[in-house]
Formats: sequence, structure tokens, C-alpha cells
Amino acid sequence: MRIRVAVNGYGTIGKRIADAVVRQPDLELVGVAKTHPDFEARRAVERGYALYVGGDGSPAGFDAVGLPVAGTVPDLLGRADVVVDATPDKVGAGNRRLYDAAGVRAIFQGGEAADVAEVSFNALANYAAARGKRRVRVVSCNTTGIARAAAVVLPRWGVERWDVTLVRRAADPAESKKGPLNGIVPSLHIPSHHGPDVRTIFPDLAIATVAVVVPTTLMHVHVNHVRLRSPPADAAALVEAFRETPRFRLFAPWEGVGGTPQVMEFARGRGIGRDDVMENVLWQEGVTLEGKEAYFFQAIHQESIVVPENIDAIRAMFDLAPDGRTSIGITDRALGLAGR
Ligand code: NAD
Repeated sequence: MRIRVAVNGYGTIGKRIADAVVRQPDLELVGVAKTHPDFEARRAVERGYALYVGGDGSPAGFDAVGLPVAGTVPDLLGRADVVVDATPDKVGAGNRRLYDAAGVRAIFQGGEAADVAEVSFNALANYAAARGKRRVRVVSCNTTGIARAAAVVLPRWGVERWDVTLVRRAADPAESKKGPLNGIVPSLHIPSHHGPDVRTIFPDLAIATVAVVVPTTLMHVHVNHVRLRSPPADAAALVEAFRETPRFRLFAPWEGVGGTPQVMEFARGRGIGRDDVMENVLWQEGVTLEGKEAYFFQAIHQESIVVPENIDAIRAMFDLAPDGRTSIGITDRALGLAGR
């Protein structure tokens, strides 16, 4: 029996999660909900997704442009075992009432406060913690990237202190009204909220984060400086650990990937859909070790990195796989990530 999944909020994250759900062998997409008709709503219908009306939208708005809708969000919830809420920041918490009334389990995104759910989740870091839960929050794109890296480093060498400078993209590609267009804007609140968010998964990690926003839409880049408790002999051990872990992609110097433009060009060529990069991207040459001090850069594709995590969160909630690594393997094979 496949788990029936609803997606409420069909924007940057929601549309990708819907596409990922239909590719999983043990999940079934029962529908997606949008507030207003637009080209994305039409695309959902063209893809064969049942379309429902959410938020302040009305079926009449969709009827007026000839887009068939199957009902409203309560109808959608009535057909689902779990809903993935991908509505804008802080809207999800307001939807909890609806989900409780329908008796469906719910996954929330990183734009919600941690207390929206029983557990904050990352598949590599704490898959087991979401087992059997009714409400799970998949942490944000930046927190997902850091949590994955911590899941590699912490158990192997321990961490005395982790500092991250986040170079953040200004907006997603479709957001033409956001900026900065020509400037570098520091987030003056130190530490930034990302460090505390990582501690929703690793409560004892000594981590501090600072952030600057730059005029790009492509990806975030993290500059990591980690003081290890028991460092390996050389940086090659770090490289190997990242290389052997799913959801990490390392580029060697000969591959000519100088920065995020080449990462996105790589993504355009590999054909997993929407030009997404769901892995943490590391530059092998930048992985450095000086005594206990480790340094590495990683690029994070904000639009897609949380997508496989949402899939694994469903599998954990319904106990569909014996452990996180098994779930990650199923997800990544279905998405075409493994080996590409
Ligand atoms: P988005 O604005 O691209 O999409 C949200 C969608 O929800 C829109 O289509 C909007 O019309 C719809 N919507 C609004 N109110 C609704 C309601 N009441 N019911 C149903 N649909 C409604 O937002 P996004 O970037 O996809 O972000 C969604 C969540 O994912 C947020 O919590 C965000 O913090 C998180 N997230 C975003 C990114 C990113 O970089 N975009 C990365 C990781 C996590």
C-alpha cells in the first residue's frame, strides 16, 4: 500500500516536492493546492496532478480561466495520509488546525518556528527521531546543508567549535521584486538564526553563524571553519568522508567548476528535472586541514536541497524503511541523483 501524499502550497518548494513524490515507489500524490490560477497551476494540471484550492483562493477564480479543480484543501486532506505544507513562511503554523481537524499527519518547512512540529528533521542527521511522528519540520535550505555536513564530521572527529559565514542568495530566480540588485548586505544580527536552527537537530553543537546577502539567485555558499576534537592525519580523510556520503557532490580541480555558475551549468546538463542540485556541493581543492582547524566551502541550491529530505521525512513518519540510509537510497535512486 502506498502512502497518500497531499502538497499544500505549490510554489518553489511545493512543486518540486510534488514532482519528487510521484517518482517514489511507495508514495502516491493525491493532489496539490494553490491559492490562485497561474501558469504553474496550469502546469500542475498538464502534469496530471489533481488541483485543489487553498488559502484565500476560490474555485470560481479557477473556473473563470478554465482550470479544472477537484475541490478545496479540506477535500484534499480527506484523501491523504500526510500533507506536506509548503506555504510561505509562518503560514504553515496557521494551517495546523486544518490538518488536525482532518486527522492527517503533517510536514512543515523551515520557514516555520521549530515548535510547529514534534521534531526538526534532516535525513542524514536524525532520521530515527521522526519515526512514527505526526508532525515533522524539515529544516531550511541553509540548515539542511550545515546539518548534513555536521552529520559527516561530528561522529568521525568530534567538533570543538563550528563557524559558518553564509553568503546568501538575494532571491529565488522567479522573485523579480526582491534585492539587493547591486550591493552586499550584512545581516547585522549576530549570530544569525541559522546556528540556533542547526541546534534543533544537534543540540550540543558549538556553532556560530553570520550571514551576508549578495545579488545572485543561483545558490548560497557556506564558508565553514571547524575546530575538530580529534582531527584526521590529513585533508584527504575529510574529502573521502564527504565523497562516500550520499547527498554530497565534490568537484575535482580538473572539472573546472570555479563557482556557482558552473555548478548550475552542470545541473542543466544532467537531466534530473528543473536543473536542480539536491546535494551539498563541495570543491575538493578547498577542503583544507591545518592541525585541528578544518576549512571547506559548500554551495547549497536553495530551491531543491530540502526536496529529498521531505520524502525521507514521510518514510520515517510511516516507518517505510529500516533506517535513514535505506530511505535515502530509495529516494535518491528514484530522483536520479545516485551516480549522476
Ligand atoms: P513560495 O512563495 O515560492 O511558494 C508558496 C506557495 O504557497 C505559493 O504558490 C503561494 O501562492 C501558496 N500559498 C500561499 N498561502 C497559501 C495557503 N494559505 N494555502 C495554500 N497555498 C498557499 O514559497 P517557497 O519558497 O516555496 O517556501 C515555502 C516554504 O519552504 C517556506 O517555509 C520556506 O521558508 C521554505 N523553504 C524555502 C526555500 C527557498 O529557498 N525558496 C528553501 C528551503 C525552505
